[in-house]
Amino acid sequence: MVKLAENKHYSENKAIEKLPPPSKAYLPLIQHLGKICNPEVKVGDMIKLGQRIANIQANVYAPIHASISGVVIAIQDWPHPVLGRAKAIILEGNSQSDELTFSLKSRQEIDKLSLADIRKIVLDAGIVGMGGASFPTHVKLNPPKPLDTLIINGAECEPYLTADARLMVERTAEIAEVVTLIAGCLGVKDIYIGIEDNKPEAIKAFSRISKIKVKVLKSDYPQGGEKQIIQNILGKQVPRGKLPFDIGVLVQNVATIYAIYEAVFKGKPLIERLVTVTGNCLVNPKNLLVRLGTPINNLIDFCGPLKEEPAKIIIGGPMMGIAQYTDEVPIIKSSGGLLLMNEKEAETIEETPCIRCAACVRGCPVGLMPCQINLASEKLLWDLVKEYKASDCIECGICNYVCPANRRLLQTIKRAKLEGTK
Ligand code: SF4
Ligand code: SF4
Repeated sequence: MVKLAENKHYSENKAIEKLPPPSKAYLPLIQHLGKICNPEVKVGDMIKLGQRIANIQANVYAPIHASISGVVIAIQDWPHPVLGRAKAIILEGNSQSDELTFSLKSRQEIDKLSLADIRKIVLDAGIVGMGGASFPTHVKLNPPKPLDTLIINGAECEPYLTADARLMVERTAEIAEVVTLIAGCLGVKDIYIGIEDNKPEAIKAFSRISKIKVKVLKSDYPQGGEKQIIQNILGKQVPRGKLPFDIGVLVQNVATIYAIYEAVFKGKPLIERLVTVTGNCLVNPKNLLVRLGTPINNLIDFCGPLKEEPAKIIIGGPMMGIAQYTDEVPIIKSSGGLLLMNEKEAETIEETPCIRCAACVRGCPVGLMPCQINLASEKLLWDLVKEYKASDCIECGICNYVCPANRRLLQTIKRAKLEGTK
């Protein structure tokens, strides 16, 4: 673990605000780990808010839904925050864009839900891990073995980001309600929430919930990694090559849990998410509720005016995020932050050849060889990427941080993970 400058002061006390829906939504067909979806609509089709517009039948996938109502104006390559470019469905909105009317379930209906019912709701809603991993959540809700512990990951250890912290403070009751429901269906006996000690309001809010045990974690990086949080809460290690299921544990990020709440209790598919818009260049950093597919320039304008022109725009945080080449790129399911860095912060240090020092190997908290995955990914050797277990990478960015050659290791590893599972 490493101690990083937190820089959460820009937005940690900013209550969640809603960003108005965009006039056009750009919805990539891949926003998850797994198979790319196929469009279910064509140019000219009229689309309702929340309508499923892309899907595929596979083991690991998540369908895509319309985040505004309107008309399909194109299905074409468009900037993608992780892949650079990818095929996207482009919707042009109409006046009904902001009508969020999904059907509420009665308490009686909810109490009758089984784990299989919840899994189906989660799959139909297109929910993926929203802490950045974007692994389809319905797969995680199908444990191959009995579980005894559910851990809610509220660590939010990535510097600058504060959306999860606000969610825990402002939606405590909803999170607690759905967590209790899921825990009951899974038959687990213990429910924990792990929160770093730099979020006293969230710790206080969950301390009032008797069914959930709060574990206060040190604000070290990457405290929010799945295996790290299990180790620090339960004192148990997930063996190499095994999953938390293997030791009877399920970990879910707090934003994912909230998305499950909205799907189960309100019948709402994943069409929006919280994004921290932050950094030195902004006069008004904010925690925004954003429709998926919204171009990031809308978020920047809403938090403007700019104090200075950003030299670097990152989707995500400084450790796990990805620098963007255009402000036309849209927010997708895994985009939890938008960081605008000024020239000094963004100082680009030239990438030089790997000197085979192994600092990245020693620093990797899950025991990978980032330098080798990087080379394989650059050569598009996706089979080799699989052999190097790139899928175990938790995208913490420590390899980038420690590399004396300034290799952009994480960027290529992220691509390797997405390509390797296609
Ligand atoms: S490969 Fe890099 S980003 Fe992935 S877990 Fe290891 S140190 Fe973190
Ligand atoms: S830390 Fe950088 S220079 Fe050292 S082995 Fe890894 S990639 Fe190569």
